[in-house]
Amino acid sequence: MSTTTTLAGGCLCGALRYNLIFPMASPPNCLHCHCGMCKKSTGAYFETYVTTPYAQLHWTTDRRPKQFQSSANVKRGFCPNCGSPLTFEAIDDPKISVIVGSLDDVDAVKAMSHIYFESVARVAKEVDRDLPKYRGESELIQEPKA
Ligand SMILES: [Zn+2]
Ligand SMILES: [Zn+2]
Repeated sequence: MSTTTTLAGGCLCGALRYNLIFPMASPPNCLHCHCGMCKKSTGAYFETYVTTPYAQLHWTTDRRPKQFQSSANVKRGFCPNCGSPLTFEAIDDPKISVIVGSLDDVDAVKAMSHIYFESVARVAKEVDRDLPKYRGESELIQEPKA
């Protein structure tokens, strides 16, 4: 029995393809980010990504994402041919995030939290509503008990 899981993905045009390969016992952290930059970058109400050590992301095509530095320490990777957003990485961080929408099977991962929930879009408020919600990246938002 295999002890690793492989998730394949890539951009819309297929010029960039990857495999995420990780131990079954430690799946990548997955979260929804509601910050304004993620909305702009993906053109969606929020962005969901999985965060994984660089060594677990294997590009299987020759090309690499083009990078746009969206803030002082963040670079966002996208396909230079079709424009699909693919990655998100903080400079000096040993981990890289992969945009879940680029996975071939988006249901293969499940988010565990929301960050920047203070910026949540109206239509996204009910998405995964039972998950913990954070203001910014780490300030837990206490919800009134129902
Ligand atoms: Zn492409
Ligand atoms: Zn964000």
